[in-house]
Amino acid sequence: MAGILVYALHDDEGNFNKNSLGALSEAAKLAGELGTEAAAVVVGDVADDAAAGLGKYGVGKVYRCKEAPEGLAQPIVDVMAKVISDNDFDYALFGGGLLGFEIGAGLTARLNAGVTMEVTQVNVQDGKLVAERPILQDSQIADVGYVDKPGIIIGRLNAFDANEGDGTAEVEDVQVELSEWSTKARMVTRGEQRGADVNIEDANVLVGGGRGLGKKENFELAEQLAESMGGAVAATRAVVDAGWYPYAAQIGQTGKTVAPNLYLALGISGAIQHKVGMQNSENILAINKDQNAPIFEFSDLGVVGDLHKIVPKLTEAIKAKKGG
Ligand SMILES: Cc1cc2nc3c(=O)[nH]c(=O)nc-3n(C[C@H](O)[C@H](O)[C@H](O)COP(=O)(O)OP(=O)(O)OC[C@H]3O[C@@H](n4cnc5c(N)ncnc54)[C@H](O)[C@@H]3O)c2cc1C
Repeated sequence: MAGILVYALHDDEGNFNKNSLGALSEAAKLAGELGTEAAAVVVGDVADDAAAGLGKYGVGKVYRCKEAPEGLAQPIVDVMAKVISDNDFDYALFGGGLLGFEIGAGLTARLNAGVTMEVTQVNVQDGKLVAERPILQDSQIADVGYVDKPGIIIGRLNAFDANEGDGTAEVEDVQVELSEWSTKARMVTRGEQRGADVNIEDANVLVGGGRGLGKKENFELAEQLAESMGGAVAATRAVVDAGWYPYAAQIGQTGKTVAPNLYLALGISGAIQHKVGMQNSENILAINKDQNAPIFEFSDLGVVGDLHKIVPKLTEAIKAKKGG
Protein backbone atom coordinates (compact mmCIF):
# COMPACT_ATOMS: atom_id res chain seq x y z
CA MET A 1 0.00 0.00 0.00
CA ALA A 2 1.52 3.31 -0.98
CA GLY A 3 0.52 6.32 1.06
CA ILE A 4 1.43 8.51 4.02
CA LEU A 5 2.44 7.07 7.39
CA VAL A 6 2.11 9.11 10.60
CA TYR A 7 3.56 8.35 14.00
CA ALA A 8 0.95 8.89 16.74
CA LEU A 9 2.50 9.61 20.14
CA HIS A 10 0.52 8.93 23.31
CA ASP A 11 1.08 9.46 27.01
CA ASP A 12 0.93 6.83 29.75
CA GLU A 13 -2.83 7.35 30.14
CA GLY A 14 -3.37 6.58 26.46
CA ASN A 15 -4.12 10.18 25.40
CA PHE A 16 -2.79 10.99 21.97
CA ASN A 17 -0.63 14.04 21.47
CA LYS A 18 -2.36 17.05 19.88
CA ASN A 19 0.40 17.52 17.27
CA SER A 20 0.20 13.86 16.28
CA LEU A 21 -3.56 14.15 15.79
CA GLY A 22 -2.95 17.24 13.66
CA ALA A 23 -0.49 15.25 11.54
CA LEU A 24 -3.08 12.47 11.12
CA SER A 25 -5.69 14.94 9.85
CA GLU A 26 -3.15 16.55 7.54
CA ALA A 27 -2.04 13.18 6.17
CA ALA A 28 -5.66 12.14 5.57
CA LYS A 29 -6.35 15.38 3.69
CA LEU A 30 -3.20 15.06 1.56
CA ALA A 31 -3.81 11.36 0.89
CA GLY A 32 -7.26 12.28 -0.38
CA GLU A 33 -5.73 14.78 -2.80
CA LEU A 34 -3.12 12.25 -3.92
CA GLY A 35 -5.68 9.46 -4.27
CA THR A 36 -3.83 7.29 -1.78
CA GLU A 37 -4.17 6.22 1.89
CA ALA A 38 -3.10 7.61 5.25
CA ALA A 39 -2.14 5.30 8.10
CA ALA A 40 -0.75 5.58 11.61
CA VAL A 41 1.87 3.79 13.69
CA VAL A 42 1.39 3.36 17.42
CA VAL A 43 3.72 1.60 19.81
CA GLY A 44 3.32 0.19 23.29
CA ASP A 45 0.24 -0.68 25.20
CA VAL A 46 -2.53 0.94 23.14
CA ALA A 47 -6.01 -0.52 23.60
CA ASP A 48 -7.91 -1.78 20.54
CA ASP A 49 -10.59 0.92 20.69
CA ALA A 50 -8.03 3.69 21.24
CA ALA A 51 -6.02 2.55 18.21
CA ALA A 52 -9.14 2.10 16.06
CA GLY A 53 -10.37 5.51 17.27
CA LEU A 54 -7.58 7.21 15.32
CA GLY A 55 -9.85 6.59 12.35
CA LYS A 56 -11.75 9.67 13.53
CA TYR A 57 -8.84 11.73 12.22
CA GLY A 58 -9.10 10.18 8.77
CA VAL A 59 -6.62 7.31 8.77
CA GLY A 60 -7.85 3.98 7.48
CA LYS A 61 -5.31 1.75 9.14
CA VAL A 62 -3.25 1.68 12.33
CA TYR A 63 -0.12 -0.43 12.65
CA ARG A 64 0.44 -1.30 16.30
CA CYS A 65 3.68 -2.70 17.70
CA LYS A 66 3.02 -3.67 21.30
CA GLU A 67 6.57 -4.81 21.99
CA ALA A 68 8.25 -1.46 21.24
CA PRO A 69 8.34 1.03 24.13
CA GLU A 70 6.69 4.44 23.74
CA GLY A 71 8.81 7.55 24.15
CA LEU A 72 12.20 6.30 22.92
CA ALA A 73 13.23 7.19 19.37
CA GLN A 74 15.31 4.20 18.28
CA PRO A 75 12.71 1.42 18.75
CA ILE A 76 10.16 3.57 16.93
CA VAL A 77 12.61 4.06 14.05
CA ASP A 78 12.84 0.25 13.84
CA VAL A 79 9.05 -0.09 13.74
CA MET A 80 8.45 2.68 11.22
CA ALA A 81 11.29 1.55 8.94
CA LYS A 82 9.76 -1.94 8.76
CA VAL A 83 6.19 -0.73 8.23
CA ILE A 84 7.34 1.67 5.50
CA SER A 85 9.44 -0.97 3.71
CA ASP A 86 6.85 -3.76 4.00
CA ASN A 87 4.00 -1.57 2.77
CA ASP A 88 5.82 0.68 0.34
CA PHE A 89 4.80 4.00 1.94
CA ASP A 90 5.67 7.12 -0.04
CA TYR A 91 5.93 9.54 2.87
CA ALA A 92 6.24 9.68 6.65
CA LEU A 93 4.74 12.71 8.38
CA PHE A 94 5.46 13.90 11.94
CA GLY A 95 3.53 16.54 13.84
CA GLY A 96 6.49 18.28 15.44
CA GLY A 97 8.01 18.07 18.88
CA LEU A 98 11.39 16.80 19.99
CA LEU A 99 10.57 13.09 19.74
CA GLY A 100 9.23 13.53 16.21
CA PHE A 101 12.45 15.30 15.22
CA GLU A 102 14.53 12.52 16.71
CA ILE A 103 12.55 9.69 15.11
CA GLY A 104 12.34 11.52 11.77
CA ALA A 105 16.09 12.08 11.70
CA GLY A 106 16.78 8.43 12.60
CA LEU A 107 14.34 7.18 9.98
CA THR A 108 15.94 9.41 7.36
CA ALA A 109 19.36 7.93 8.05
CA ARG A 110 18.02 4.36 8.20
CA LEU A 111 16.13 4.59 4.89
CA ASN A 112 18.55 6.91 3.14
CA ALA A 113 15.60 9.22 2.62
CA GLY A 114 15.13 12.94 2.09
CA VAL A 115 13.89 14.98 5.05
CA THR A 116 12.41 18.44 5.60
CA MET A 117 12.09 19.79 9.13
CA GLU A 118 10.11 22.67 10.65
CA VAL A 119 7.51 22.35 7.91
CA THR A 120 4.57 24.75 8.22
CA GLN A 121 2.47 23.58 5.26
CA VAL A 122 2.35 20.69 2.82
CA ASN A 123 0.93 20.98 -0.71
CA VAL A 124 0.22 18.57 -3.54
CA GLN A 125 1.93 19.44 -6.81
CA ASP A 126 1.91 17.18 -9.87
CA GLY A 127 0.82 14.23 -7.79
CA LYS A 128 3.60 14.63 -5.21
CA LEU A 129 3.97 16.29 -1.84
CA VAL A 130 5.90 19.54 -1.56
CA ALA A 131 6.78 20.77 1.92
CA GLU A 132 6.95 24.46 2.79
CA ARG A 133 9.74 25.34 5.16
CA PRO A 134 10.35 28.90 6.44
CA ILE A 135 14.01 29.92 6.14
CA LEU A 136 16.23 32.95 6.79
CA GLN A 137 14.62 33.72 10.15
CA ASP A 138 11.19 33.02 8.66
CA SER A 139 11.49 35.81 6.08
CA GLN A 140 11.30 33.40 3.09
CA ILE A 141 9.63 30.08 2.33
CA ALA A 142 11.50 27.21 0.69
CA ASP A 143 9.44 24.66 -1.28
CA VAL A 144 10.97 21.22 -0.80
CA GLY A 145 10.07 18.27 -3.01
CA TYR A 146 11.36 14.71 -2.97
CA VAL A 147 13.14 12.95 -5.83
CA ASP A 148 12.80 9.51 -4.29
CA LYS A 149 10.62 7.75 -1.73
CA PRO A 150 10.08 7.74 1.10
CA GLY A 151 10.01 11.46 1.79
CA ILE A 152 10.16 12.41 5.48
CA ILE A 153 8.23 15.52 6.56
CA ILE A 154 8.53 16.87 10.09
CA GLY A 155 6.09 19.63 10.97
CA ARG A 156 6.70 22.63 13.15
CA LEU A 157 4.82 22.47 16.46
CA ASN A 158 1.14 23.33 16.00
CA ALA A 159 1.52 23.54 12.21
CA PHE A 160 -1.31 21.08 11.55
CA ASP A 161 -4.82 21.29 13.01
CA ALA A 162 -6.55 18.15 14.26
CA ASN A 163 -10.00 17.66 12.70
CA GLU A 164 -12.11 15.07 14.43
CA GLY A 165 -14.87 13.35 12.47
CA ASP A 166 -16.34 9.87 12.29
CA GLY A 167 -14.55 6.72 11.29
CA THR A 168 -12.80 3.68 12.63
CA ALA A 169 -9.40 2.45 11.57
CA GLU A 170 -8.45 -1.17 10.98
CA VAL A 171 -5.80 -2.20 13.51
CA GLU A 172 -2.97 -4.50 12.46
CA ASP A 173 -0.46 -5.80 14.97
CA VAL A 174 3.07 -5.90 13.64
CA GLN A 175 6.01 -7.81 15.03
CA VAL A 176 9.31 -6.03 14.70
CA GLU A 177 12.70 -7.31 15.73
CA LEU A 178 14.31 -4.35 17.48
CA SER A 179 17.91 -3.50 16.61
CA GLU A 180 20.51 -4.35 19.20
CA TRP A 181 21.14 -0.66 19.95
CA SER A 182 17.43 0.03 20.31
CA THR A 183 17.20 -2.06 23.45
CA LYS A 184 20.12 -0.39 25.25
CA ALA A 185 18.03 2.44 26.68
CA ARG A 186 15.08 1.89 28.99
CA MET A 187 12.30 4.34 29.78
CA VAL A 188 12.28 4.90 33.53
CA THR A 189 9.58 7.51 33.81
CA ARG A 190 7.75 9.93 31.56
CA GLY A 191 6.29 13.28 32.43
CA GLU A 192 6.06 16.88 31.39
CA GLN A 193 7.09 19.98 33.23
CA ARG A 194 4.23 22.42 33.36
CA GLY A 195 4.07 25.97 34.65
CA ALA A 196 1.12 26.45 37.00
CA ASP A 197 -0.45 23.20 35.78
CA VAL A 198 -1.48 24.79 32.51
CA ASN A 199 -0.53 23.49 29.10
CA ILE A 200 0.46 26.72 27.39
CA GLU A 201 0.43 25.07 23.98
CA ASP A 202 -3.31 24.44 24.34
CA ALA A 203 -4.27 27.80 25.90
CA ASN A 204 -6.56 30.08 23.88
CA VAL A 205 -5.28 33.17 25.62
CA LEU A 206 -1.64 33.62 26.58
CA VAL A 207 -0.14 36.51 28.49
CA GLY A 208 3.58 36.65 27.76
CA GLY A 209 5.79 38.36 30.31
CA GLY A 210 9.16 39.91 29.43
CA ARG A 211 11.95 41.78 31.13
CA GLY A 212 9.78 44.90 31.10
CA LEU A 213 7.91 43.42 34.08
CA GLY A 214 10.96 44.55 36.07
CA LYS A 215 11.25 41.75 38.61
CA LYS A 216 10.12 38.24 39.39
CA GLU A 217 7.35 39.31 41.78
CA ASN A 218 5.72 41.40 39.04
CA PHE A 219 4.79 38.24 37.15
CA GLU A 220 1.77 38.42 39.43
CA LEU A 221 0.48 41.16 37.11
CA ALA A 222 0.69 38.75 34.16
CA GLU A 223 -0.91 35.96 36.19
CA GLN A 224 -3.83 38.11 37.33
CA LEU A 225 -4.45 39.35 33.79
CA ALA A 226 -4.29 35.79 32.42
CA GLU A 227 -6.65 34.58 35.13
CA SER A 228 -9.18 37.31 34.35
CA MET A 229 -9.40 35.94 30.80
CA GLY A 230 -9.10 32.24 31.62
CA GLY A 231 -5.67 32.15 30.01
CA ALA A 232 -2.16 31.06 30.90
CA VAL A 233 1.19 32.79 31.34
CA ALA A 234 4.17 32.49 29.01
CA ALA A 235 7.63 34.04 29.22
CA THR A 236 10.66 35.19 27.25
CA ARG A 237 14.03 33.56 27.57
CA ALA A 238 15.45 36.67 29.23
CA VAL A 239 13.14 36.26 32.22
CA VAL A 240 13.51 32.48 32.31
CA ASP A 241 17.30 32.85 32.35
CA ALA A 242 16.93 35.39 35.15
CA GLY A 243 14.97 32.81 37.15
CA TRP A 244 11.76 34.88 37.14
CA TYR A 245 9.63 32.16 35.54
CA PRO A 246 9.94 28.40 34.79
CA TYR A 247 11.46 27.19 31.55
CA ALA A 248 8.25 25.24 30.80
CA ALA A 249 6.65 28.59 29.96
CA GLN A 250 9.38 29.82 27.60
CA ILE A 251 8.22 30.74 24.11
CA GLY A 252 10.56 30.90 21.16
CA GLN A 253 13.41 29.32 19.27
CA THR A 254 14.69 27.46 22.30
CA GLY A 255 11.30 27.15 23.97
CA LYS A 256 7.77 26.31 22.89
CA THR A 257 5.82 27.29 19.79
CA VAL A 258 2.31 28.50 20.44
CA ALA A 259 -0.63 29.74 18.39
CA PRO A 260 -3.35 30.99 20.76
CA ASN A 261 -6.30 33.14 19.73
CA LEU A 262 -4.78 36.00 21.71
CA TYR A 263 -1.14 36.59 22.68
CA LEU A 264 -0.75 39.55 24.98
CA ALA A 265 2.90 40.63 25.23
CA LEU A 266 3.83 42.60 28.35
CA GLY A 267 7.23 44.29 28.29
CA ILE A 268 8.56 42.06 25.52
CA SER A 269 10.88 43.62 22.94
CA GLY A 270 9.99 41.14 20.17
CA ALA A 271 13.38 39.60 19.40
CA ILE A 272 13.33 37.23 16.42
CA GLN A 273 14.04 34.26 18.70
CA HIS A 274 10.85 35.07 20.63
CA LYS A 275 8.86 35.94 17.53
CA VAL A 276 9.32 32.52 15.90
CA GLY A 277 7.53 30.92 18.84
CA MET A 278 4.40 33.10 18.86
CA GLN A 279 4.01 34.76 15.47
CA ASN A 280 1.25 32.36 14.42
CA SER A 281 -1.01 33.64 17.18
CA GLU A 282 -4.38 34.73 15.82
CA ASN A 283 -4.22 38.18 17.49
CA ILE A 284 -1.13 39.79 19.00
CA LEU A 285 -1.47 42.67 21.44
CA ALA A 286 1.67 44.31 22.80
CA ILE A 287 2.16 46.73 25.66
CA ASN A 288 5.59 48.36 25.60
CA LYS A 289 6.87 51.74 26.74
CA ASP A 290 9.20 52.00 23.75
CA GLN A 291 7.28 52.97 20.61
CA ASN A 292 10.15 51.63 18.48
CA ALA A 293 10.10 48.16 20.06
CA PRO A 294 10.26 45.50 17.27
CA ILE A 295 7.20 43.72 18.72
CA PHE A 296 5.00 46.49 17.30
CA GLU A 297 6.07 45.49 13.78
CA PHE A 298 4.10 42.25 14.05
CA SER A 299 1.37 43.17 16.55
CA ASP A 300 -2.26 43.60 15.58
CA LEU A 301 -2.68 46.14 18.35
CA GLY A 302 0.10 48.06 20.07
CA VAL A 303 -0.19 50.07 23.26
CA VAL A 304 2.71 52.43 24.02
CA GLY A 305 2.93 52.98 27.74
CA ASP A 306 4.03 51.75 31.14
CA LEU A 307 2.67 48.26 31.73
CA HIS A 308 2.71 48.78 35.48
CA LYS A 309 0.04 51.44 35.06
CA ILE A 310 -1.91 49.79 32.25
CA VAL A 311 -2.06 46.11 33.26
CA PRO A 312 -3.75 46.47 36.69
CA LYS A 313 -6.41 48.71 35.13
CA LEU A 314 -6.89 46.31 32.22
CA THR A 315 -7.31 43.39 34.63
CA GLU A 316 -9.83 45.32 36.68
CA ALA A 317 -11.76 46.35 33.56
CA ILE A 318 -11.94 42.76 32.31
CA LYS A 319 -13.05 41.48 35.70
CA ALA A 320 -15.68 44.21 35.94
CA LYS A 321 -16.97 43.42 32.46
CA LYS A 322 -17.15 39.71 33.23
CA GLY A 323 -18.73 40.35 36.62
CA GLY A 324 -21.30 42.67 35.12
C1 LIG B 1 20.40 31.29 20.28
C2 LIG B 1 19.38 32.14 20.99
C3 LIG B 1 18.17 31.56 21.29
C4 LIG B 1 17.19 32.33 21.94
N1 LIG B 1 15.98 31.76 22.21
C5 LIG B 1 15.01 32.52 22.75
C6 LIG B 1 13.71 31.98 23.00
O1 LIG B 1 13.43 30.79 22.78
N2 LIG B 1 12.77 32.81 23.51
C7 LIG B 1 13.01 34.13 23.79
O2 LIG B 1 12.09 34.82 24.26
N3 LIG B 1 14.23 34.65 23.59
C8 LIG B 1 15.24 33.89 23.09
N4 LIG B 1 16.48 34.44 22.92
C9 LIG B 1 16.74 35.75 23.51
C10 LIG B 1 16.25 36.92 22.65
O3 LIG B 1 17.25 37.26 21.72
C11 LIG B 1 15.95 38.15 23.53
O4 LIG B 1 17.09 38.48 24.27
C12 LIG B 1 14.78 37.95 24.49
O5 LIG B 1 13.65 37.45 23.83
C13 LIG B 1 14.45 39.31 25.11
O6 LIG B 1 13.50 39.13 26.13
P1 LIG B 1 12.60 40.35 26.59
O7 LIG B 1 11.79 40.83 25.45
O8 LIG B 1 11.88 39.88 27.83
O9 LIG B 1 13.66 41.44 27.10
P2 LIG B 1 14.18 42.76 26.44
O10 LIG B 1 14.69 42.55 25.09
O11 LIG B 1 15.11 43.37 27.45
O12 LIG B 1 12.89 43.67 26.30
C14 LIG B 1 12.20 44.24 27.37
C15 LIG B 1 11.15 45.19 26.78
O13 LIG B 1 10.34 45.70 27.83
C16 LIG B 1 10.06 47.05 27.56
N5 LIG B 1 9.76 47.69 28.84
C17 LIG B 1 10.62 47.96 29.87
N6 LIG B 1 9.97 48.51 30.91
C18 LIG B 1 8.66 48.60 30.53
C19 LIG B 1 7.50 49.11 31.17
N7 LIG B 1 7.53 49.58 32.40
N8 LIG B 1 6.31 49.05 30.48
C20 LIG B 1 6.26 48.57 29.22
N9 LIG B 1 7.35 48.09 28.57
C21 LIG B 1 8.53 48.09 29.23
C22 LIG B 1 11.30 47.59 26.90
O14 LIG B 1 11.00 48.73 26.11
C23 LIG B 1 11.74 46.39 26.05
O15 LIG B 1 11.20 46.46 24.74
C24 LIG B 1 17.45 33.70 22.29
C25 LIG B 1 18.69 34.25 21.97
C26 LIG B 1 19.64 33.49 21.33
C27 LIG B 1 20.95 34.14 20.97
